[in-house]
Amino acid sequence: MSNEANPELKLVFDEPKQKVKPPKHFADLSPEERKALALELGIPAFRAKQMAVHFFTHFNDDPESWSDIPKELRETMAKEFTPKLITLVRSITCDGGKTRKDLWKLHDGVLVESVLMRYTDRTTVCISSQAGCGMNCPFCATGQAGLTRNLTAGEITAQVVAAAKACASGELPGGPTRLSNVVFMGMGEPMANYNAIMRSVRNITSPQPDGLGIGARSVTVSTVGLVNGIEKLTKENLPVTLAVSLHTPDDELRDTLVPINSRWKVREVLEAADKYEAATGRRYSIEYALIRDINDQAWRADLLGRLLRNRNAHVNLIPLNPTPGSKWTASRPHDEAEFVRILEGYGVAVTVRDTRGREIDGACGQLAAAEIASTPAE
Ligand code: SAH
Repeated sequence: MSNEANPELKLVFDEPKQKVKPPKHFADLSPEERKALALELGIPAFRAKQMAVHFFTHFNDDPESWSDIPKELRETMAKEFTPKLITLVRSITCDGGKTRKDLWKLHDGVLVESVLMRYTDRTTVCISSQAGCGMNCPFCATGQAGLTRNLTAGEITAQVVAAAKACASGELPGGPTRLSNVVFMGMGEPMANYNAIMRSVRNITSPQPDGLGIGARSVTVSTVGLVNGIEKLTKENLPVTLAVSLHTPDDELRDTLVPINSRWKVREVLEAADKYEAATGRRYSIEYALIRDINDQAWRADLLGRLLRNRNAHVNLIPLNPTPGSKWTASRPHDEAEFVRILEGYGVAVTVRDTRGREIDGACGQLAAAEIASTPAE
């Protein structure tokens, strides 16, 4: 895709050329490819399953400690299958430790974040799919910095495995638990890194030992509305939860809030989401960051209500988390309440979430939405 038709449109779909590719990892491969690579390296195919058990069931990526594997194979495995992809730089916690933001350094020094959130009934990790983002939404901190590069399936999966390990080993207050939900709402536009996010979704949802065995319904893929991506996802036959970051029902404002709207309009995005819903039976989420006096007027709530009243969608209203230097801020409580009232008047399901961990969110608006998306859709 090219932006040449519209020089005003500063969207980046192709990542800048990378100097050094991230090392290939077990989690970049399908179960069949893992076996094939093992055989190529002179390792019996059944060892691929053993590796999967260590990695996805025990969250252990250190072959040195894999006592059921002959010592002479462990070194090859470490080199060829489990190179270290992400290194923890720092964790920041709040809510008495129940919310934790982890900052990861990748092999080339690039930094990405994930956020782990424990609730009474579930534990959710919000992960990054790209370092930076090319979609240039003006209210989003990640968008301001542009796209550094796509993450590999291994780098995306590693964030989830680290979260699963933290849960299982009792690092969060409340004792050991199971990671139950994954949301692609950290840095990046998942649909602009489609193959890698799909490989990682398969790693997350495949039953053990080939994957983590987290139900597809508990995985949310959030998009600015890349219709080609939504269409591909529709064909995957995998009932993940789709979230569409709409932010306004009218094209005029959406052209500025979500610049990709100049390529795919509100109507096209909703039609693609409807087809996803028809194919999967899954209600989708509409994400809507409420921005004071920008998109929070009663007439916009009315327009949104009319757009959604006959659709199987659920609106998540996110109070805007202002980015540093931004002229925009969250809506007044009164306007927010009125927005909700109008939508409910149309019979549209709507929730407003107060944001978990806002104090550790710093320059990033994503955390707010992660909180919302992890609300079970049913
Ligand atoms: N690129 C994807 C996923 C990452 S962002 C997408 O746009 O859906 C996850 C959610 O956080 C999106 O709905 C995004 O619009 C929202 N968001 C970004 N910045 C925000 C901010 N400053 N305040 C509130 N929500 C924000």
